[in-house]
Amino acid sequence: MILKLSKGNKPLSYKGIIIEPQIRDFFAGRIWTHNNTPFPQSKINYYTLRNYFTKKPGISILTKNHIFYRQHLICNRCQNENQQEFIIYNCAKCEKECVYCRHCINMGRVTSCTELITWNGPQPHMHKKHVLDWNGTFTNAQNEAAKQLTNSIKHRRNHLVHAVCGAGKTEILFPAVLYALNRELRVCIATPRTDVVLELFPRFQKVFPNTNLHALYGNSPQQTGFPQLVLSTTHQLFRFEDAFDVVIVDEADAFPYTFDQALEKAVYKVKKDGAPIALVTATPSPQILARMKKESWGYSFIPKRYHGHPLPVPRYQALWSYDKTIQKGRIPRKLLKWTITKLSNKEPFLIFFPTIQLMQLAIPLFQQLNANIVSVHAEDADRKEKVMKLRNEQIPGLLTTTILERGITIKNVQVAVVGAESKIFTSSALIQISGRVGRNVALPKGDIVFFHHGITAEMDEACNEILRLNKEGFGKNETL
Ligand SMILES: [Zn+2]
Repeated sequence: MILKLSKGNKPLSYKGIIIEPQIRDFFAGRIWTHNNTPFPQSKINYYTLRNYFTKKPGISILTKNHIFYRQHLICNRCQNENQQEFIIYNCAKCEKECVYCRHCINMGRVTSCTELITWNGPQPHMHKKHVLDWNGTFTNAQNEAAKQLTNSIKHRRNHLVHAVCGAGKTEILFPAVLYALNRELRVCIATPRTDVVLELFPRFQKVFPNTNLHALYGNSPQQTGFPQLVLSTTHQLFRFEDAFDVVIVDEADAFPYTFDQALEKAVYKVKKDGAPIALVTATPSPQILARMKKESWGYSFIPKRYHGHPLPVPRYQALWSYDKTIQKGRIPRKLLKWTITKLSNKEPFLIFFPTIQLMQLAIPLFQQLNANIVSVHAEDADRKEKVMKLRNEQIPGLLTTTILERGITIKNVQVAVVGAESKIFTSSALIQISGRVGRNVALPKGDIVFFHHGITAEMDEACNEILRLNKEGFGKNETL
């Protein structure tokens, strides 16, 4: 075995060492804590000693003009720079005070005495024999958008796909993803929510049968081989660096994306230099629209649903002091009537609640109507199964917090929002929630009702935007 020790980070020679493919495939493009990987520590140490890994501290002090004029910390995993999120603690290992980053704590603690490693050994082979096994057809608008997106990726230009809920956004990505994969590019599709990753994963697996793709979310199972295509929650992006040639962010403006600058930084961190970003959303923020214009991004707009029917327009129903009624152990009368109608029509329904607390008070009341009605919220481990049950008509309806507003498609679903005036229901959240209704070509209509204790500007804004999109979609003389 020829072993040369190098001073810098680059290995001087790879000769004589047979790299284990599992190590190479896992670490390529990733940034990981040195002492906490899915591999035996002895192996990690072996490769570290031979300079296959570049090391950097978990938390660094940022300097300006090379002067430590003021202590300003940055987490090298999640890029957090909010100083309030760095917590000083007595470190038993160092026997002194160290600092940890609270921002990415749920992925295991990164501290000032943690070492992060990135792979600098040989890269896995990208192959270019990917196929797209999809027999669907595009509407004219989808076709146009798919071409524009592919073209932007070809020219390494950022792109915004602005498409109404139910426009068939996922399918629009297929040709662009195929184009990139077959040019030996590594592609990431990132989305803020686990639900969306879970929904997209089987669809992409089905249409890209020759492609190794991984789905990454909190506690996702260990997957093998080198994924040339990665579907990931934006949080899991913290564990990548300089990894992707194309990053597609689905539902770009969704909570928590807009509220967390660190997540946006994460998107920039995981892409390689000059790699294009594509944002796909139904509700682009004014900031994103302004940036798109300023930086001359590619742009596609699809104001129409793929089946050509207009978006269902929400109706308002006053539900005064609904919270007090629920606290007293009763379902408010109008909501009760709505639910009974849906149950007797055998139409699946979703009822959105502004808080988990209120939903938990309400669930036993609904279960008196039908024992199979269940509730879901963000920390619910059975969330996936419950949505599946609703889709398979094994349960009549679901009570939910806003976690289900995006990405889920249930045939003939009827939707009610309880407390539509609550702060959590922003106009974009309400547009997304309304977009759950009428997605199926055979059943393009459905009920979307905002039960409220007073109408808010956000509610009106959502309705106006839906009306505007409908007008836009149908004003144009476009064939489907
Ligand atoms: Zn961090």
